[in-house]
Amino acid sequence: MRAQIEVLALLQLVDREIREQTGLKQGLLSELQTKETEIEAKKREVEALTALLAEREKLRQEKDRIFQDEGKKIMDKRMRMNRIKNIKELQALQREIDQIKQRNIELEEALIQIMVEIDGIKGNIKAKEAEMAQIQSEWQQKRQEMQSQISGIDRAVSEAATRRQTIASQVAGDLISRYELIFSRRGGTAVVEVAGGICQGCYMNIPPQLWNEIIKSDKVHLCPSCQRILYCRPSAEQEKTA
Ligand SMILES: [Zn+2]
Repeated sequence: MRAQIEVLALLQLVDREIREQTGLKQGLLSELQTKETEIEAKKREVEALTALLAEREKLRQEKDRIFQDEGKKIMDKRMRMNRIKNIKELQALQREIDQIKQRNIELEEALIQIMVEIDGIKGNIKAKEAEMAQIQSEWQQKRQEMQSQISGIDRAVSEAATRRQTIASQVAGDLISRYELIFSRRGGTAVVEVAGGICQGCYMNIPPQLWNEIIKSDKVHLCPSCQRILYCRPSAEQEKTA
């Protein structure tokens, strides 16, 4: 059993390595995800502005068409004025012309406002596109670096997994299960050394009686306070027995 626990301690080294690498990979993946989401959001901003621009352009065209039509109406009415001799009809026609003119002044103001707005939107789109191009080119570089880091991690983990299998094959299945449960519940430390009568997992004193049992009996002993599997190195045993 003692030999088995020593093998478990080796297994733990490999498992910590895998755990650390997996954590690094998760960090990288979440960083990738965050950045991609950020870039997507910027793309959607540009899309929304482009849609707004199209809508404003359409509005400008509509108002411009009305403006032109009204201008034609004024010309028509002026031609009619040349043919009318009745003063009252002339006055009525003049009023109509004045009304159209007034409406056209308002239309012109609205048109100018829309054009100013369109210029603003165009400038905004241009700035955002430039910003996005910058972010994307920087990101492309960084993403490649991160992806090759991830590939490196995958290789390291797969290599460690092979090593793990070799080591694990030397330990009984039920002891492995017990170890794995403690490993996951106790933050990646399932097997701990007892040094100077102290558990190196939680730094609590091991009762002398238990300490003697660990040395003498060939059983699995758990730390009374942190419930980890205890073991002691042969040199430590010698110290104690000497
Ligand atoms: Zn402990």
